[in-house]
Amino acid sequence: MGEWSRFCSRISLCNRNCGLGTFLSIVLTPKIKARMKPFLFSVLLLSAMTAQAQTVTMPDGTTRPLGDMNGDGEVNISDVTALVNKILGKTPSPVPVLSCPDDHHPHLIDLGLPSGTLWSCCNVGASTPEGYGGYYAWGETQTKDVYNWSTYKWGSDWNKLTKYNTKSGYGSVVDNKTTLESADDAATANWGTPWRMPTDEDFEELLSHTTSTWTAKNGVNGGEFKGDNGGILFLPAAGITNDGVVYEENSYCNYWSSSLNDDFPPYAYCLYFNKSDHHAYRTNGYYRYTWRSVRPVHKN
Ligand SMILES: [Zn+2]
Repeated sequence: MGEWSRFCSRISLCNRNCGLGTFLSIVLTPKIKARMKPFLFSVLLLSAMTAQAQTVTMPDGTTRPLGDMNGDGEVNISDVTALVNKILGKTPSPVPVLSCPDDHHPHLIDLGLPSGTLWSCCNVGASTPEGYGGYYAWGETQTKDVYNWSTYKWGSDWNKLTKYNTKSGYGSVVDNKTTLESADDAATANWGTPWRMPTDEDFEELLSHTTSTWTAKNGVNGGEFKGDNGGILFLPAAGITNDGVVYEENSYCNYWSSSLNDDFPPYAYCLYFNKSDHHAYRTNGYYRYTWRSVRPVHKN
């Protein structure tokens, strides 16, 4: 029996045994019932879900408590929220998880970060956490065949920038924009709000509140970031693409932030990690026309 069917049968069983529905229909006025309906519905669901300790086996072989919709190892009110949305036919609210509970990516990985920022489990253009996804020039939202200054959207050379520029020596337009706007953000443009590319500050927070190690997932090398809460994020090593050719695949993580290097605006900040490093690290980046991977974050 599927997990969803188990829920339905347990809710039905609870309602029969306690007779709560009959009691409420006699005692409460229609107005009060209407006001209490969401609350009572949640109580009924939670009662059904926690009535007895059972576990279910997930497709990946792991087990979790019956009713643990968000895979956090607990059955609580946040699981009710997910269930209510599903029953009402609404687009389910994204539910944070510590690791991917199923194959319906992308998931929101909760690493216990102070800002509350959640990280996507996979790259833009990827359908699995270990998938490389697309390679994007900084400030562009589509992949393309040729990546160089002549095809770059926001400038034809390092000193001919047309957007995101802080100094006159790098282009005639000095707009002092230092963070990508939503329309130029590969995560927002492809996935919608509130997905966005991480800022350099997001990378800093990730590195300072997780432990990073070089590892492999389903045969793909990459960096793993583990939060104090047990949340785990994997970034595949999709390689370097400075000169139009992807190389060092499977040995080099190379991710764009949405933050311009305002000291040298032809550059934007990046996150790097390779198999010879002991930890991931931030850098002052590289030329914006080059290709990099994009791992979205999710923050309202
Ligand atoms: Zn996932």
